[in-house]
Amino acid sequence: MSDDGRIETRCIHGGQQHEPTTGAVMQPVFQTSTYAQPWPAKHTGYEYARTQNPTREALERCIASLEGATEAVCFGSGLAATSTVIQALGSGAKVVCGDDLYGGTYRVFTRVFAKFGVEFSFVDLANADLEEAIPEDTDLVWLESPTNPLLKITDIRKVAERAKQVGATLAVDNTFATPVFQRPLELGADLVVHSTTKYLNGHSDVVGGVVATADPAWAEQLRFLQNAVGAVPGPWDTWLTLRGLKTLAVRMERHQANARRVVEWLENNPKVTRIHYPFREEDPGYAIASSQMSGFGGMVSFVLDCTLEQAEKFCASTKVFTLAESLGGVESLLELPASMTHASVPPEIREELGLADGLIRLSCGIEHADDLIADLEQALAAALQ
Ligand SMILES: *Cc1c(COP(=O)(O)O)cnc(C)c1O
Repeated sequence: MSDDGRIETRCIHGGQQHEPTTGAVMQPVFQTSTYAQPWPAKHTGYEYARTQNPTREALERCIASLEGATEAVCFGSGLAATSTVIQALGSGAKVVCGDDLYGGTYRVFTRVFAKFGVEFSFVDLANADLEEAIPEDTDLVWLESPTNPLLKITDIRKVAERAKQVGATLAVDNTFATPVFQRPLELGADLVVHSTTKYLNGHSDVVGGVVATADPAWAEQLRFLQNAVGAVPGPWDTWLTLRGLKTLAVRMERHQANARRVVEWLENNPKVTRIHYPFREEDPGYAIASSQMSGFGGMVSFVLDCTLEQAEKFCASTKVFTLAESLGGVESLLELPASMTHASVPPEIREELGLADGLIRLSCGIEHADDLIADLEQALAAALQ
């Protein structure tokens, strides 16, 4: 962390200055599509809102500060941010990806960009021999750590080393960890990508995305594509996200504390046969997670010893946890991968990937931990009666 304070301070002040005309403490919403010019081709630095918007720029500076980047470039969704990175590559580019990517990322890679001649391969980067997995002609390596929903951990430093060796760019989707707990650029990555829809905004009321980098050539490319392709977020959405960011550090602490209480409860429950949570010593990702993350958020997955029908009943019986896709908001959510996010994967492949019928994914919010546990307890009683 450099000189503009620790992460808690940067969430609030990173890249921010008071609005110069009025001294407004919070960056205003600049709800305009265009800006008056005093003379043809002479302007204030702002000509058209796809290209420049002061509200969006305030958010971009704050995220850059949090990730230790020189530049952060915001988009209308996490997938728009992801797509922009691929748009910077040309036809024939080779991309090596982790094998359990966010489903939408997998879909846009294989069903949209593959058509334009970008080649994608998928490997288990958490366990693979990296020399084999990342060949000499690789242009981009794309990974998520922790992954969804099994919370697998990949050694970012090691992958960064191999990517550098072959001259490939390393992009890390840091949506689950957030810069409060993991800063991929400090671990050797070139690009950090977020769905700001999740923890960064944190209030389940905006869809957005960002790519951050300290590499000048990438920064220039991303800025060019943001304007040239135009998948930009609106001023209200960037303002809401900037407002949400201010509490990111305190929210993450509470998400983590609640997740730990839930994990303790799961550990003592005989109906739970597996817990996926990297900050337990028994977890296969524990050593690496501890070496590259300073904490963990509210995500916990576990397997109930039950049928798919009973797991569905469990998910339908919670009252504090809302049954919904997405994650990272102040409210607790749960989902059942076998029936929801991963229903399109055939049952035998689900089993192979470790996606059991009784696998449940929790996004622990910031309510009182006792209420979360009481809720899980009553839902379990209702499901298994
Ligand atoms: C949600 C999510 C995305 C996609 O972001 P959107 O904002 O929904 O487009 C990408 N990666 C991860 C890890 C996500 O959870």
